[in-house]
Amino acid sequence: MSKELSKAEELKEKLFYTQKHAALLTGEDELKLCDAFCEDYKNFLNNAKTEREAVKFVKAKAEALGFKKFDRDAKYSAGDKVYYDNRGKSIILAVIGKRPLKDGVRLAAAHIDSPRVDLKQNPLYEESDMAYFKTHYYGGIKKYQWTAMPLSLHGVIVKRDGSVAEVNIGEAENDPRFVITDLLPHLAAEQMKRTLADGVRGEELNILIGSRPFNDDETSEKVKLNILNLLFEKYGITESDFLSAELELVPAFKATDIGFDRSMIGSYGHDDRVCAYPAAEAIFNIESPDYTAVTVLTDKEEIGSEGNTGLKSSYFKYFIADLAWTEGINYHTVLTNSQCLSADVNAAYDPTFPDVSEKKNASYINKGVVVTKYTGARGKSGTSDASAEYMSKVLRVFDENKVVWQTGELGKVDAGGGGTVAMYLANLDIDVIDVGVPVLSMHAPFEVVAKLDVYHAFKAFKAFFEDK
Ligand code: MN
Ligand code: MN
Repeated sequence: MSKELSKAEELKEKLFYTQKHAALLTGEDELKLCDAFCEDYKNFLNNAKTEREAVKFVKAKAEALGFKKFDRDAKYSAGDKVYYDNRGKSIILAVIGKRPLKDGVRLAAAHIDSPRVDLKQNPLYEESDMAYFKTHYYGGIKKYQWTAMPLSLHGVIVKRDGSVAEVNIGEAENDPRFVITDLLPHLAAEQMKRTLADGVRGEELNILIGSRPFNDDETSEKVKLNILNLLFEKYGITESDFLSAELELVPAFKATDIGFDRSMIGSYGHDDRVCAYPAAEAIFNIESPDYTAVTVLTDKEEIGSEGNTGLKSSYFKYFIADLAWTEGINYHTVLTNSQCLSADVNAAYDPTFPDVSEKKNASYINKGVVVTKYTGARGKSGTSDASAEYMSKVLRVFDENKVVWQTGELGKVDAGGGGTVAMYLANLDIDVIDVGVPVLSMHAPFEVVAKLDVYHAFKAFKAFFEDK
């Protein structure tokens, strides 16, 4: 029974911009698809906690789906699927379109690194009969959040002979885990007077890794010796092999449903797996697009996109150049005509901390993907600021494909700010706008997203790739 609308209500419906809850705009059948999609997403979260693991996971799936290693000297035709693995830390997936490359590509760019705690190069020490690792945190973290909870150790140790020992300890059921200890409140009177930023300091993020001595004659540092002996037996490494290792500590817990209604997912690393996974799945689920579709899952976003696996480097440009080479054209023609969704998260409005947001322009969980025209800070510094023309085009594609979307700014003016990879792609003369999932507790060890937003991110990237 639908009640009749008054004239004012009718006019409001027509003229006002309002954002409805995504559940009201998503059909029953689609809700089932959404929940199933999120089960697979949780599996990805649990098996791809670092950029290396994410590349491995995505590459294995791509190969199973018929993606072949990209070869610049090959000839490709519509529907061909290729990938490019950049040093095991970033990956590009492409499905060749029906149109020539001079018309540009449709690109989704997400990152697969997340804030965490890295080991220092010479990390191992013993103190008071306990063994520890020294660390240097990676990305923007609130350090106090990383103490007193189980951590797992991931990464690689490359020995002098070039052989690689892959490390993953703390994820399997019966694995041991690691922890950063914190002071008991009884003795924390002085610590509690510190500011929150200073509550736990960088050099206090020490990882407890053992406490039993090597059972032998009198010698010093017997606990450290025992740890090194265990590592030698397991990996064949000595202490100096840590110098050529990349070892990272991440939360050991698994992704889990949140809420009585199971409407949300709590996990480590949503930023930016919650966009990377849908962007990869979108390209896995298109057959023969008009425009060549490209998904790039990149590294190092959390520390400024530096390094040869981050998007400030030329690796993406070189891939496009090699792609252009297969059709004998200039790469800049491809770039100039390309369009990109920079797939990264935005800060969801948190009613417990309303002061940092401006409600009319904040993003909310369950209102769909956030389209962010500009990021940046202090008067839009450090953003590429998408054009009105391009924003309009993207919104049209979303509307035509029933993608639930909202707009959002990262916090109120001068409250802080942040950036994404959008500007580095804009610097290549590509049209680009940020589109991603709103996140609660962003950069915390346990972040929260809404399942409906994850699903609509997948729909958004797929619609963008399939647009004619
Ligand atoms: Mn991000
Ligand atoms: Mn981030």
